[in-house]
Amino acid sequence: MPDTHSTRRFDIVIAGASFAGLAFARALHTALGSDLRIALIDRTQRSASPAPESRAFALSAGARRMLETLGVWDEVAPLSQAVTEIEITDSSLEAGIRPVLLKYDNRLTPDAGNETTDEPASYIVPAAELEQALYRSVATSPGISFIVPAEIARFADTGSAVAITLRDGSEIEASLLVGAEGRRSASRESAGIKTVGWRYGQTAIVVLIAHERAHDGRAIQHFLPNGPFAILPLPGNRACLTWTEDEIEAKRILALDDAGFLAEVETRVAGRLGRVELAGPRQSWPLEMHLARAYVAPRFALIGDAAHGVHPIAGQGVNLAFRDVAALSEIVVDTLRLGLDPGSLEGLGRYERWRRFDSAVSAAAFDGLNKLFSNDALLVRAARDFGLGLVDRLPALKSRLVSEAAGLTGDLPRLFKSEPL
Ligand SMILES: Cc1cc2nc3c(=O)[nH]c(=O)nc-3n(C[C@H](O)[C@H](O)[C@H](O)COP(=O)(O)OP(=O)(O)OC[C@H]3O[C@@H](n4cnc5c(N)ncnc54)[C@H](O)[C@@H]3O)c2cc1C
Repeated sequence: MPDTHSTRRFDIVIAGASFAGLAFARALHTALGSDLRIALIDRTQRSASPAPESRAFALSAGARRMLETLGVWDEVAPLSQAVTEIEITDSSLEAGIRPVLLKYDNRLTPDAGNETTDEPASYIVPAAELEQALYRSVATSPGISFIVPAEIARFADTGSAVAITLRDGSEIEASLLVGAEGRRSASRESAGIKTVGWRYGQTAIVVLIAHERAHDGRAIQHFLPNGPFAILPLPGNRACLTWTEDEIEAKRILALDDAGFLAEVETRVAGRLGRVELAGPRQSWPLEMHLARAYVAPRFALIGDAAHGVHPIAGQGVNLAFRDVAALSEIVVDTLRLGLDPGSLEGLGRYERWRRFDSAVSAAAFDGLNKLFSNDALLVRAARDFGLGLVDRLPALKSRLVSEAAGLTGDLPRLFKSEPL
């Protein structure tokens, strides 16, 4: 475990060493090598035997391209499942059969402006293995130091650098500080950047299952009255269930013994996959939405959940985080190659304009989807089912939606186009 307190001057300091922070360090190191001195700070010391993690992420094709360009994808690919088809249903919890309202091929087609065909628009990737692969990609890289366990107490722009004080009183300096500590980012708070957002009064329940029948790469989203219930396929006859309930119902379900919990799972899966068994621990997360009012300050930038936390309904949180990583690393690398200051507000302002609007639109869209589908009113259901049926009959629109979910629309950063920095 690299852990050094000896180098006190860095080019870039990253607070938070998980998906966003590790990927950002990897991107910078891949482009500029060990001449660039990077420090990663995390409050958690990485354990040799980490607690089991049930989450699996739906990773977009754009994010996969970035990981491939950074040399991380090969390690994750064997553990990941390409999603080739998506089915959407909308029914009451008690319905014995869940009729499919919308079904689409989840592969990219040339008519939606993609140069390749047959590339899956998304992959299901176990979260723990993805994080481990990112960690391994930087753990022993010369030029990258880990300062763990540690937290930032405060920081200040001195004009030529950012002076960072850690909670243990030690001080470090850098040209740029990047906040990647997730939803409760301490560096964001220290910068005085406020957030807007709200709690959903919903809980996400996640569990791994093993099932009898093959999933054939099909992801299923059952829209149930309390919220979406996603069946995310994994290699072999396994799947990750990511499931939204209102807080009170979630508490009841999570308190059940294994047999009771499995019965709740079976009611929702509704026989689609044959016999089902629990294959991992159940976990839960309270759901909330937040957006930082600013993404940058002098010598400071936010990436990932520190900048935006979205509802997992569309499985886009880490995809947005990786898009931040791709955009900010591109700007920082270009700035450094020109011999300019990576902490200057000019480049950081460009990053904010590039990413903040896009993330706000995504957060609003996922928020709207959640409100529309976590609702059992008869008229609302009739209207949304009509809408889903309509989309089902419009192949061009379906291709467009697949491209959107693939993260391949808008102003793409180079890493999302498989281009090196
Ligand atoms: C149930 C659920 C399902 C999801 N499914 C998907 C999905 O299918 N697809 C998808 O794209 N996204 C999904 N997400 C979202 C995804 O988990 C997040 O977007 C992602 O974890 C953000 O990564 P991050 O690195 O920004 O932050 P985090 O993963 O929160 O990591 C933050 C890091 O900072 C460290 N840290 C925290 N505070 C401090 C501090 N004060 N000082 C130092 N270090 C600190 C932590 O130890 C951690 O290492 C899901 C989320 C949930 C809850």
